[in-house]
Amino acid sequence: MTKEKLIELINDIADKIEENKDYLTDLDSAIADGDHGINMARGFSAVKEKLQTVEDKDCGTILKTVGMTLVSTVGGAAGPLYGTAFMKAGMAVGGKEEINGEDFIKMMEEAINGVKMRGKSEAGEKTMLDAMIHAYDAFKEGLCDGAKSAIKKALQASMDGVEYTKTIKATKGRASYIGDRSIGHQDPGATSFTYMMECINDII
Ligand code: ADP
Ligand code: MG
Ligand code: MG
Repeated sequence: MTKEKLIELINDIADKIEENKDYLTDLDSAIADGDHGINMARGFSAVKEKLQTVEDKDCGTILKTVGMTLVSTVGGAAGPLYGTAFMKAGMAVGGKEEINGEDFIKMMEEAINGVKMRGKSEAGEKTMLDAMIHAYDAFKEGLCDGAKSAIKKALQASMDGVEYTKTIKATKGRASYIGDRSIGHQDPGATSFTYMMECINDII
């Protein structure tokens, strides 16, 4: 993926988040404070503005700029967590003009570790990590058949990750306040991650 495609991708993600803002907020209302869609849409609208200033930069700088913008414009948990994920992903491809499949593995690895560190969270706590880790595992396993089919598998795996979040109780974030009553509901942060995977799948 060239940096031009990367810019296009991030704009697509911003549009997809905006389109699904109400749905994400409804999901968050069911188990927490009902602002995930609002938070993400605010962050990605700022990202869209900021992107115009880094269009000629390398992939690492572009991704780091996305991350810093999310951290600085989004209150709540997801902003700093996604912000960290994008910043870490950017550091994995510093100076690069293109991103290949092996790079994407490194980006995902760094992003997941960044979220784990910042969120003090692990797999199985009903968070965005459950979608991210499922996607990462599927992509890594599928890359031998080419990036396009690996992304398709990773998208499906991220959706499976969201289904999985319905079966477990939240032990991190605001949804953990309602304990067992969070079971049966899907995690909003895991859901927003599947939108990012959908956009990658559509563009690649
Ligand atoms: P807030 O919970 O502060 O209102 P959001 O509603 O925007 O922020 O984001 C909630 C999402 O953030 C959750 O659905 C979950 O996926 C994710 N999340 C919350 N806490 C953590 C954590 N400690 N680690 C990983 N992800 C988390
Ligand atoms: Mg919330
Ligand atoms: Mg909130």
